[in-house]
Parts: sequence; C-alpha cells; structure tokens
Amino acid sequence: MSSVEVPQLAARLHRTKLVPLCLPTPYPVGPVWVYLLRGEPLTLIDTGPRTRAAWESLKKQLAAFNLRPQDLERVLITHGHHDHMGLARRFQGYGARVYAHRADRNNLALRRSFRRLNQALAQLGVRAAQRLRMFVGLWLLDQTSLPLKEFVPLQDGQELDYCAGPIRVHHLPGHSPGHLAFQLPEGELWISGDALLAGKVPTAVLEPDPDQPERVFPALSVYRQTLVRLSSSPPQGLLPAHGPAILEVVELARTTLAKQQQRSQLILTHLPPQGCNLPELLATLYPTAAGLRLFLAYSELFGHLLHLQQEGLVRAEPSPRGLRFHRT
Ligand SMILES: [Zn+2]
Repeated sequence: MSSVEVPQLAARLHRTKLVPLCLPTPYPVGPVWVYLLRGEPLTLIDTGPRTRAAWESLKKQLAAFNLRPQDLERVLITHGHHDHMGLARRFQGYGARVYAHRADRNNLALRRSFRRLNQALAQLGVRAAQRLRMFVGLWLLDQTSLPLKEFVPLQDGQELDYCAGPIRVHHLPGHSPGHLAFQLPEGELWISGDALLAGKVPTAVLEPDPDQPERVFPALSVYRQTLVRLSSSPPQGLLPAHGPAILEVVELARTTLAKQQQRSQLILTHLPPQGCNLPELLATLYPTAAGLRLFLAYSELFGHLLHLQQEGLVRAEPSPRGLRFHRT
C-alpha cells in the first residue's frame, strides 16, 4: 500500500488553509497530528495531551503563524481520548467554542466510574491486585487531560461554517462511541482521528455504553459497521491523528476488518475445550502486559469475546473464578 506523509497531502489543498501540527505524547502510540485551519473562524481540530511538552510545542508552532492560543475561536474534537482532547478545556478558558459528539461526553469529562469498572472486572475474574495496577495506570493517564464538561454537541451529517466552504461532520463510532471525522470543503479529504490508522488496528476500549451505562459498549461490532461504511462509500483520503496519510481507504478498511477477524479467530482457537476465564486467556495472549497496557489488553480481549458471543460462536457461563468463556 503506498503511503504519503500528512504534510504532503495537506499541501495539496489550495483554498483550505490547513496546517498539520505534530505534537509529542507520552503514550506508546507516539506523536499526534492536530490540524490548524487558518481563516475564519480560526479552528483547531484536536489539541494534543495536557503535557508541558505538547503545550510548548503547540504554542511554538502557532507562533510561526503569528498566532497565540488565545486567538483560536473554535476547537473540534475527533474523540474523547487524552491525546486528542487533553488541552480542549484550556482553549475553552481562552474563549474558544469546543465541539464534540455527545456519545463521548463521559470520556471528555473524564467521568470514569471506577466502582462500576471494578465490579465488571471482578465479575470477569480479574484479581484485586491486577485491578489496582490497572486503575493506577488509568489514573496516571487521566493526569494528561483537563476534564471537559461542556461542549457544543455535533451530529452525523451536520455542516459547520468555514471561510473556504462548509466542514461536514461524519460519525464513525467504534474506537470510541462518539468518534467523529471532519470532511474538508475541498475534495473528499477527511480529518479522521483514530478511525483508521495505517499499520495498526485502533484498540477497542472497555467502557460503559453511553446510552445504557449498565452494559459494556460493544466497541468491536460497532467499529465493524464503521469499517464497512468506510469501504462502501470511501472518501478520497484521510488525514489521521497518527502515522502517514491514507489514500487507499477501501483497501485499509478491508485489511483492518480482516485483521480483526483473524484476531477474533485466534482468540477462539485459544479457548480450551473446558473453557477459560479472561485472566487465563490474558496470561496466554498478553503475558507481559502491565499497568495501562494491561487495561488495554483486557479491553481488547473482552471486546473480541463480546463480539464472538454476539456472533453465536462463544458462550459465557458464571463460575466461582469469574465468567468462563466456551466455544459453542
Ligand atoms: Zn483514541
């Protein structure tokens, strides 16, 4: 698959004054792209995390255009994860209007129900020591964002005013329930956050369903629908939050879908005839995961098991050591 760097693809736009800015993050994913749209209203798409390094880098890159953070009028958020929205509240404090999808309101506000998560993980047989290590990882992660409690809600299909033409909003849920992409006025280029990434499959994160908080958000099944949508009516290109620009959208959406299917299949083959619980599966497939990675590994495994259950390929049975998963 051929790849083109984000600044090269952005430079092909003529009317849109689009400037990709690369910011450091302290996370394993590496640096994040945020996008400045010069002109009226002065807009930033995603903000980077709330770290000193990201803030200093952002200020310096804005200064190259004679801009200060106070000059931003509008901030659009692709989704409520820390590397994308960590600084949104700071811009709001300076007077910018912040826009995001309502389904990510809990992520944006850092409203994490540790009690509910603790219960859910205990029911899955995860031991207290491991739960504690994960919660420390999540707490440390939450230090890299300012909670954003108020924002202007966006919906699929909505159009936002911009001097070079309207920006169209696309709802692409999965990696998070309220994940958005923003279609630029020229051509068919979308600023797409983590909806599709070259070389990696975006993780499914264990979180409550925003509409029915007593159940887990079925991230993988929902993401599959997004991938199908992206491969059936693809934009010409994507400007993602990480890695190179994406021109072969259909091919990448299909490859991502295939990789997910392979992963589900692999998990299925690791379920022994007598079944196993989630920690046993984790010990086989992610033996070295710790801290936040441990949480992401559990999220990923449970996401696949939930999907396999929905497909009728796996069933879960309560046992004294947490839910046991069996092949049907
Ligand atoms: Zn993300």
